[in-house]
Amino acid sequence: VDLTQMINDRIRDVPDYPKPGVMFKDITPLLADHTAFAAVVDAIVAHYGRGTIDKVAGIEARGFIVAAPVAYHFGAGFVPIRKQGKLPSATYAENYDLEYGSETIEVHKDAFAPGEQVLIVDDVLATGGTAKATAALIGRTGAEVAGISVLMELGFLGGRDRLPDLDVHALVTV
Ligand code: 5GP
Repeated sequence: VDLTQMINDRIRDVPDYPKPGVMFKDITPLLADHTAFAAVVDAIVAHYGRGTIDKVAGIEARGFIVAAPVAYHFGAGFVPIRKQGKLPSATYAENYDLEYGSETIEVHKDAFAPGEQVLIVDDVLATGGTAKATAALIGRTGAEVAGISVLMELGFLGGRDRLPDLDVHALVTV
């Protein structure tokens, strides 16, 4: 079966979640299917290649689920990018605007060694604000961002255009 079709068939559209007018892409059916879950992990690892990535940065919370097995198959470490106040040791923080209000995400200052190659992994790329803030956080540690892999890119929101310096790898674009 074609990977694109396998992903599309297992990401569910949920209207008006988390608020009216939003069509939420629910990845839980994909995660629950062992063949599809393994296929997306393998596709991300194959795109960059084993040995090219030192650390995989997963974005809270759905990004963690995909990033951890990707890190394992790369032979890389895993680093959590978390919402403000969740990481116990010293952090860098980045604030970014949402449609309503703003969000702050953090990474441990010592999560990466200078020059390490870091792949960011998340489930969905929407406006690109989260990815941009994540890349900025990683940059502040002295590590290098190799790119960002997502299961699904919402192309109509223009996230890729907000990330001109980043290699954006999407398994599916809608
Ligand atoms: P952005 O910052 O690109 O606008 O939003 C991306 C972040 O919000 C990601 O961390 C992603 O998990 C979450 N997100 C936004 N829209 C959706 C969606 O429709 N489905 C899922 N699963 N996550 C979304």
